Amino acid sequence: MNHKHQIVIIGGGTGGITVAARLKKAGVADVALIEPADTHYYQPLWTLVGGGRAKAPESARPMASVMPAGVTWIKDSVVSVDPDAHTVTTAGGRVVGYDRLVVSAGIQLDWDGIPGLQEALGKDGVSSNYRYDLSTVTWQNVQKTTSGNAIFHMPPNPIKCAGAPQKIAYLACDYWREQGVLGNINPIMVLPTPGMFGIKEWSDVLAKVAAGYGIDVRFNSVITEMDPVNHTVTIKSNETGETDTIEYSFAHMTPPQSAPDWIKNSPLADPENPMGYVGVNKHTMQHNVYPDVFALGDCTTTPNSKTGAAIRKQAPVLVENLLASLKGSVGAGSYDGYASCPITTSRKKMLLCEFDYDFNMKPSLPLIDQKKEFTDYTLLKKVGLPNLYWSLMLKGRA
Ligand SMILES: Cc1cc2nc3c(=O)[nH]c(=O)nc-3n(C[C@H](O)[C@H](O)[C@H](O)COP(=O)(O)OP(=O)(O)OC[C@H]3O[C@@H](n4cnc5c(N)ncnc54)[C@H](O)[C@@H]3O)c2cc1C
Repeated sequence: MNHKHQIVIIGGGTGGITVAARLKKAGVADVALIEPADTHYYQPLWTLVGGGRAKAPESARPMASVMPAGVTWIKDSVVSVDPDAHTVTTAGGRVVGYDRLVVSAGIQLDWDGIPGLQEALGKDGVSSNYRYDLSTVTWQNVQKTTSGNAIFHMPPNPIKCAGAPQKIAYLACDYWREQGVLGNINPIMVLPTPGMFGIKEWSDVLAKVAAGYGIDVRFNSVITEMDPVNHTVTIKSNETGETDTIEYSFAHMTPPQSAPDWIKNSPLADPENPMGYVGVNKHTMQHNVYPDVFALGDCTTTPNSKTGAAIRKQAPVLVENLLASLKGSVGAGSYDGYASCPITTSRKKMLLCEFDYDFNMKPSLPLIDQKKEFTDYTLLKKVGLPNLYWSLMLKGRA
């Protein structure tokens, strides 16, 4: 073993930095964080970048600037974990020991999960807000499109921010309407689900929003293939099994997603989970098999909506329970599945959806009727939430 730390965190994204900040605030002396990237991203802004409401660099800050003071940053990436030996091994050949391990390594974007997608990306109207560089391409494509089929795709299985595939559709359609070209464009939204949203009230609102733009929503459907040469997508209905091959002039593609491969291949993966996520208790954030391991964010089995908003509620629970475990006791922290999804329904309006594991509405802004769209979204989505993120959440204050 090259190094040993009391607490080792894997990943310097939303979950890792938030937990590191909270641990330092709680007075933990020895925290190390393993993260290979130079840049930290506020990913929710990529939706606005794709819709022409923000610039990509606004979402990026140097990793060093968000790393909490006193945290040992190991600039490397983890390739394996041995939870029996209490060690992780990195690509650079380090073997790092820990008393407690926190895993927040995010989700893997499986671009090769749809044949042809990888080759089509970034060319001839195809893009994705799920990549920093391509979110700018989305906006370029939105501006260039004046006619033809516009595809908006959501894959099956959990993804981060399940609202993002719809948000960009509404932002684009609103822009096309303003430009007077929406009538020449045929927007098609491909959803794997039977409805627009898991909660009926919001599903009904979103169905009206989609109908208002003339979007042809294909429920219970998936894109099985893209042909980047002939510019077509093949859509399969999971109800009838029928397929439909459609020529596109614009396609916003959300890739299939799963746990990072090294997690899938590690003892931390839940053997029952087909996507290979880290198996943790959905209330305590503690590993189901290895009590010295905790995890949060997109890489876990917790059945909440995978969002930064969920992490804001998971992090204090995890820290409370981890600190208790260091003292040999059991923490009282319990996460209720809270997640929030601000769905941009136009370039000026938003539907704020906050809910828990049981799909109960959990409104946190009492003055807003969450069953309706509201107009001042620019303030909340473009200014309020990013400030909450950079100034409070990543500092362990919210
Ligand atoms: C287009 C889009 C829109 C979104 N909109 C919203 C929204 O409106 N509201 C909301 O709350 N959330 C939204 N999200 C989701 C939100 O950004 C994520 O849920 C959140 O960032 C997940 O945090 P995380 O810590 O789990 O992973 P990440 O923040 O992705 O961080 C993972 C980190 O782990 C590092 N890492 C990966 N592998 C290794 C390794 N092997 N070793 C060490 N480090 C590693 C990565 O470099 C990265 O820094 C959106 C996401 C996208 C893409």
